[in-house]
This record gives sequence, structure tokens and C-alpha cells, in this order.
Amino acid sequence: MTQLPVGELKCPVGEPQCPVMQRLIALEAHVQELTAQTRTDNLTQLFNQRHLMICLHQEIERTQRTQLPTSLFILDIDHFKQINDSYGHAIGDQALIHLAKLLKNAVRKLDIPCRQGGEEFAVILPSTPILVAKQIAERVRQALVENPLQLASGQIDVRASFGVSSFLPNSTKSLAQWIEETDALLYEAKRVGRNCVKSAVLPASNPSVVSLEEKALLADSPAAPPPNRVE
Ligand code: GH3
Ligand code: MG
Ligand code: MG
Repeated sequence: MTQLPVGELKCPVGEPQCPVMQRLIALEAHVQELTAQTRTDNLTQLFNQRHLMICLHQEIERTQRTQLPTSLFILDIDHFKQINDSYGHAIGDQALIHLAKLLKNAVRKLDIPCRQGGEEFAVILPSTPILVAKQIAERVRQALVENPLQLASGQIDVRASFGVSSFLPNSTKSLAQWIEETDALLYEAKRVGRNCVKSAVLPASNPSVVSLEEKALLADSPAAPPPNRVE
């Protein structure tokens, strides 16, 4: 069903104070609000796990149609339990909100930042090759290093480990396999010491060269995120 924007709903017989229409407009606004809630993680206001899965399915289809790769990175806060244990659950929640703000600032407008659950986050990067995705993940990691969580009583360092991989055109892997592959890279990042980015193998040709297309995608990215204070 095609939905009109709420502002464009009009009474079909032109009644200026139509009560049915007013009720319909209120209901329509309510439906839009509820729809947004079904996509949103309550604590961080990023997209939630449900929306992540819907978008991953869509992006795989898009990759097959457009022949442009989709990249994905998953990150998990390092030793988050220690933050909770040392400072309490409420400060742990603030650390999650802090990371979410940095994440949102560091990725591009078209990217889809999500909270997967707990202290684990995922970002879908549509039409993005692995090399660019790796650089964006590295920028998020660096933003965390440069911006500790500021509290009245001091500051807390928040660190994270990252796994990055891509879904290539003509790939036969399933969505579950793609997520597993990205998770395995994240756990590799944990294994080798945390606070680092592990990516799937870069293109063999010349991994140190960034193509014009990749440069354009990077130019679309925001500059380093501003320092972020917790209100
Ligand atoms: P690692 O570096 O290996 O990832 O260790 P970790 O301590 O980050 O991981 P672990 O799985 O041991 O602990 C994660 C903790 O995250 C445990 C759980 O209580 C906490 N947690 C999960 N969801 C929330 C939340 O919404 N708020 C807060 N404050 N804590 C949460
Ligand atoms: Mg963790
Ligand atoms: Mg975890």
C-alpha cells in the first residue's frame, strides 16, 4: 500500500474540519512513530538487530543487481564487563551511548549503524569495497581512542575490536556465512590483543592502492568526529 506523507492527507469531500480526517492523520502519525520504534535501539538510538537483518538481506540483493560489493563491520567493546563492574551499569550504559555517537559521526550518511545487542555493534556499508570499509572501521577505532567517555568524576577509556568483510557480486555465500565470517574476524581481533581491526583478505592486485572510485567514497566520509561529551 502506498502511504501519503501525513501532511498530504486531505478529506475527500473537502470538509475543512473533518473529524474523521483528523483522527486518520493522528493515527497515521502514530503508525509512523511506531514503525520508527521497530527499527530503533532504545538506549543508543541506532538501528536495532531486526533492522540490521532486513538491511543485510536487501543489500545482498542490491549487490547481485548492481554488481557493487556491500561491506560489513562488526565491533565489540573490549573488556566491557570491567567498565560495568568498576563503575556500575548506568555508566556502562553511558559508554554504549558514547560509542554510538562516535560511530554515527564517523560513518557516512549512506552507511547503516546498528546495535546488534549488548556491547556489540554492526555497520553496513552499501556499495563499498573492503579497503574503504576497513579504513572507516579504523577511523571509528581511532575516534574511540581519541575521545574517552567524560564524566564529572574523570574519564573512561573505551576500546573496541573490529571484524570487516564484504559480500562480493556473484558470491554464493549465505547471509549466515557472511555474518559468521565477519564474527570470526572480530574474534581474531580479540585474540591478537583487542583494540584493532581485522579484515578479510584485501584484493591481491595491489592492496596499497586506493582506486578513484574508492577515493570518491572516502571523500564522501565526514572528517574526524568532534570530541564528544556526555550530557
Ligand atoms: P571482551 O573484550 O572479550 O569482549 O570482554 P567483555 O568484558 O567486553 O565481554 P563479556 O561478554 O565478558 O561482557 C559483556 C558485558 O556486557 C556483560 C553484560 O552484563 C554487559 N552488558 C550487556 N548489555 C548491556 C547493557 O545494555 N548495558 C550495560 N551497562 N551492560 C551490558
Ligand atoms: Mg566485549
Ligand atoms: Mg560481546
